[in-house]
Amino acid sequence: MANKIPRVPVREQDPKVRATNFEEVCYGYNVDEARLEASRCLNCKKPRCVESCPVSIQIPQFIARVAEGDFESAARIIAEDSSLPSVCGRVCPQETQCEGSCILGIKGEAVAIGKLERFVGDWSIEHGKTFATVAPTNGYKVAVVGSGPSGLACAADLAKLGYEVTIFEALHKVGGVLEYGIPEFRLPKQKVVAKEVENVKRLGVKIETDTIVGRTATVDQLMDEEGFSAVFIGSGAGLPRFMGIPGENLNGVVSANEFLTRTNLMKAYDDQYDTPIYVGQRVVVVGGGNVAMDAVRTAKRLGAEAFIVYRRSEAELPARVEEVHHAKEEGIDFRMLTNPVEVLGDDKGWVRGIRCIRMELGEPDESGRRSPVEIPGSEFEIECDVVIMALGTSPNPLIASTTAGLETNRRGCIVADENGQTSREGIFAGGDTVTGAATVILAMGAGRKAAKAIDNYIRNKKQ
Ligand SMILES: Cc1cc2nc3c(=O)[nH]c(=O)nc-3n(C[C@H](O)[C@H](O)[C@H](O)COP(=O)(O)OP(=O)(O)OC[C@H]3O[C@@H](n4cnc5c(N)ncnc54)[C@H](O)[C@@H]3O)c2cc1C
Ligand code: SF4
Repeated sequence: MANKIPRVPVREQDPKVRATNFEEVCYGYNVDEARLEASRCLNCKKPRCVESCPVSIQIPQFIARVAEGDFESAARIIAEDSSLPSVCGRVCPQETQCEGSCILGIKGEAVAIGKLERFVGDWSIEHGKTFATVAPTNGYKVAVVGSGPSGLACAADLAKLGYEVTIFEALHKVGGVLEYGIPEFRLPKQKVVAKEVENVKRLGVKIETDTIVGRTATVDQLMDEEGFSAVFIGSGAGLPRFMGIPGENLNGVVSANEFLTRTNLMKAYDDQYDTPIYVGQRVVVVGGGNVAMDAVRTAKRLGAEAFIVYRRSEAELPARVEEVHHAKEEGIDFRMLTNPVEVLGDDKGWVRGIRCIRMELGEPDESGRRSPVEIPGSEFEIECDVVIMALGTSPNPLIASTTAGLETNRRGCIVADENGQTSREGIFAGGDTVTGAATVILAMGAGRKAAKAIDNYIRNKKQ
């Protein structure tokens, strides 16, 4: 099925200019562009796009309202299923979810569902529209650990059902990876994240920052001493992995998490802040996911010549296609089929380069992707003064180690069923702490499922 109107392109900042600033890359649609793009939707009776949305947003319904120019109704429809449309419209991998299933994509171009969602979310923010109302309390308290997408989604749904919800957040800012990980040039903090968090607060959700569950209070103390009937753990996967190669303890080797936290949460890119950050002249980022793309594009904006080193080929890059495209436009140097074997140091203990080996693709491994195999004798060096490891993360063990009987798997993830039920009664979990590093929308979906399960659990207990 094709459509006579081509997909409406979105305006973006010029790559040469944006590679030197932290302002948002994509400008989003204006009213005319959004209405024209929305008019492409066929309003399918059995919308494949909705089936592929982890939070089941009523996509054709909201798009139809956009086409009519009734943006308030569009926003109201989205708000039934998501508190974070401006966030998700910017960072969700739509190409593999809703847009990847859109019927128009079979023979032509899918409807730009993500850009339309962003348009509606931004329109609501700009026009001060919020659909949050405080539900009458049912007298039950639920604690949520972590204020990332899973915690926010779980808290919002529970608050709508009348629960008194408190989110406990270890950091001084709310939003999890949305605040400390994803850079300003992809996801503005004040303009977008803070505004959508405000909508969750308007539902009556309390947020206590600077509170580390497992230190300030344990999960059991929250339930036994502070009167919470259930706890949802949405503490993410913030513990970085390293390669275990020689030289990783040299000065100048950092995890992408630390590098991005310094720039985003602690605003190292802004002269008005005192946060130290070491960037050097040439930065090598090891990895090929979204985190690697964010780190390398941040390094470039901070003035370095920036490289990606990835052990497979471009076809296997786990990062979103859009991010890879943007990174290339900004002049990032991609070294594919290349794997580091040693970080090289100078006599003062600082990084001076990285020794790599060339790879070729062999048989598919358990992930289904062709596995990289070293080409003997192909070692070479790349000169650099900073190496950023973006190799994935796992959950911090603090909560599991302070909560007796809470089962974890061999990757340190909390074991939970599809509704978030853990091995302990009254304790639920979801998002990256269960799945390992994944996506915003999957974390939100898990938070929403857990909210339903928590409601069932508390209702059954009452009887
Ligand atoms: C740099 C980067 C870029 C990414 N880009 C994308 C993207 O483009 N698209 C996409 O869909 N996904 C992306 N992701 C992945 C996505 O952000 C995560 O999958 C998602 O944020 C997980 O949500 P969560 O709620 O499970 O955890 P998080 O967002 O990690 O939030 C967990 C929160 O819990 C808090 N916490 C942890 N331990 C405790 C404790 N003991 N007590 C109290 N609070 C605690 C943390 O401080 C944090 O605020 C990216 C991730 C990173 C790091
Ligand atoms: S599948 Fe595509 S055309 Fe059909 S309703 Fe969804 S967005 Fe519209």
